[in-house]
Amino acid sequence: MNDMGDAIHQAAVAIRQARGVFVLTGAGVSAESGVPTFRDAGGFWKKIDPYKVATPEAFAEDPKFVWEWYDARRTQLAAVQPNPSHFAIARLEKQKELFFLLTQNVDDLHEQAGSTKLAHIHGKIWEVRCTREGTVREDKRAPLPILPPRCENCGALERPNVVWFGEMIDGNAAALAESFLSQTPIDVVIVIGTEASFGYIMDWSTRKRGSGGALIEVNAGTTGLTPYADIHLCGKAGELLPQIIPTIAEG
Ligand SMILES: [Zn+2]
Repeated sequence: MNDMGDAIHQAAVAIRQARGVFVLTGAGVSAESGVPTFRDAGGFWKKIDPYKVATPEAFAEDPKFVWEWYDARRTQLAAVQPNPSHFAIARLEKQKELFFLLTQNVDDLHEQAGSTKLAHIHGKIWEVRCTREGTVREDKRAPLPILPPRCENCGALERPNVVWFGEMIDGNAAALAESFLSQTPIDVVIVIGTEASFGYIMDWSTRKRGSGGALIEVNAGTTGLTPYADIHLCGKAGELLPQIIPTIAEG
């Protein structure tokens, strides 16, 4: 077997034998579905610097403009389908008693594929939040009829329920992940499609149990996490995950 085949085999064995599994996903997983990244939004929006739109300051200055940008992203997203990596992760959840998925993605492709034990650390693009009351509601209309949307209850502006640059990560999602990690012996951590460039992602990625656990990284290239990975699978998640996650539910 070549090195890659060997690594795939090792990963498959570690996953099959694991009881507690923690999965972290990032933009790379959505990108394989054709979700445009911040950098490759279409048309007019191509010229807009996301760091100038996805911030509290930009929203305070021009909420309509920020909403137009999000409305365009939501409309693009509405046409996108989950890919084989989303389905493989959803399948793994069904096979493991102790499982949790933490995603950095704001889309709902994991849910569409069937994942239920998950949290969105950077919020959800299909939710809007009242800027005065903090109440959150789902709104999947794309495009939205009126921009910017306003709270039905109090009339204040609503904003996308996503984490903007310079904001804290979602506290509820972080608490769910922490609670899972502190109560569960983690045999396998699988990090997929994220450079783990945030400190908290790095911290969560390395929370497997002692020397017996395995950190499996699935990324297009090497990242800051690679030196810590026990198994590094380099390539497309949609091609690799189906090879390391069994097709048929166990038991
Ligand atoms: Zn309100």
